[in-house]
Amino acid sequence: MDKKKDITKRYTKMASTIEDAKIYDGRGTYDLYECEKCGRNKITTYAAKGVTPFIIRCSCGGLMQHTRSFKNVPDYIRVFRWKRPTLEQTMKLSKGMMEHVLNGGLVLDIDDEDLEERRKYEEY
Ligand SMILES: [Zn+2]
Repeated sequence: MDKKKDITKRYTKMASTIEDAKIYDGRGTYDLYECEKCGRNKITTYAAKGVTPFIIRCSCGGLMQHTRSFKNVPDYIRVFRWKRPTLEQTMKLSKGMMEHVLNGGLVLDIDDEDLEERRKYEEY
């Protein structure tokens, strides 16, 4: 079986059925993840419907756990987005990440860790 063809087939099927899938739809909500090691936190939202992990890795090496959800957050809060990689991006992922995406998983858009370092969302 052609691997690339197989991935394309699975991706297309996932993308065409995800809207009707009976899974949690986090669009329009904001999730707070807090690091148990350094206390840093991160607010995320969904750019697409899909599966997200309960725990994400913090830049300090610790683990961030999803602790709370909000209906909205103030404008000045940096919000990271859970995105569905395109088929082309999916092809370049590691085997584990690719499997996650093909199963409806989303990937966190982390484009600027430095900016994140400078901000603290203590009020949340
Ligand atoms: Zn941390």
